[in-house]
Amino acid sequence: MPQEKAKIHSLFAVPNTDKSAPEYDFYNAPEVGDEPEVCPKCYGSGMEVVAGKGARKCECRKQKSSTNTLEKARIPKRYINCNFDNYIPNNDNQREVVWLARKLPHEYHPNYDGAGILFMGSCGVGKTHLAVSILKDLSKKGFNCLFYEFGALLKEIQDSYNTSTQTSELKVLAPILDAEVLVLDEIGASKPTEWVRDTMAHIINTRYNDKKLTIFTTNYLDERRNGSEETLEDRIGVRLRSRLFEMCKTVVISGEDYRKKINKFSK
Ligand code: ADP
Repeated sequence: MPQEKAKIHSLFAVPNTDKSAPEYDFYNAPEVGDEPEVCPKCYGSGMEVVAGKGARKCECRKQKSSTNTLEKARIPKRYINCNFDNYIPNNDNQREVVWLARKLPHEYHPNYDGAGILFMGSCGVGKTHLAVSILKDLSKKGFNCLFYEFGALLKEIQDSYNTSTQTSELKVLAPILDAEVLVLDEIGASKPTEWVRDTMAHIINTRYNDKKLTIFTTNYLDERRNGSEETLEDRIGVRLRSRLFEMCKTVVISGEDYRKKINKFSK
């Protein structure tokens, strides 16, 4: 059968037929330089034309989608640029910790049932920096990741408490239970009441039973450095602390507060 000759359609610029659209106001047009910045590669279209080859997704859209992913993971802006490459270990312990932390995103896979990490150490040693670095690497690999500051989570749970059913609303808990990878930052920072403690235990137990990866950070240690200091167990209770032992590798980071150190050098 003779092949039907392929029809070639030419494309032309089509005049705007929408009569209701206001005419362009040349008098009040923005001055050159007032226009919003447009990507010079794709002129805002999102597609970059590669001469003689075709078109591809523009770099600016890729950056935007990676920023969206990080926003979806609720990584705080303060930590958005933290990664393994800009964590500068200050002692042997920190070198070992970075090595350990870096390993996790490599080893993690959808059926992973290994331990999470509980980063312990005093303020400013980079616990959150490293937890975020893990989360970002896993986010880039396409895993559903979520960052929550412990105090903010407690507040959300408390705010959603329904007095008639005596439970917290599922819509608050669902993303925390569902996330494949969760960072719970500064656990123990605020002391939960008994029922909030129960809700926390429910979250942590459910994630543990569902073999979901959870990474915790805390400023509290297991031993008291002086008589008046509280331990993590004092803050979150025996039950939760022992659950964390089961589901996480405890990684103690030693060193001085990085912010103070930087401040010292810049003076
Ligand atoms: P922590 O969670 O232990 O209190 P953070 O992770 O919040 O400490 O660190 C405080 C700030 O110092 C952050 O901006 C973090 O990026 C930075 N920081 C901490 N340790 C390091 C390090 N070793 N190298 C580079 N930046 C660091």
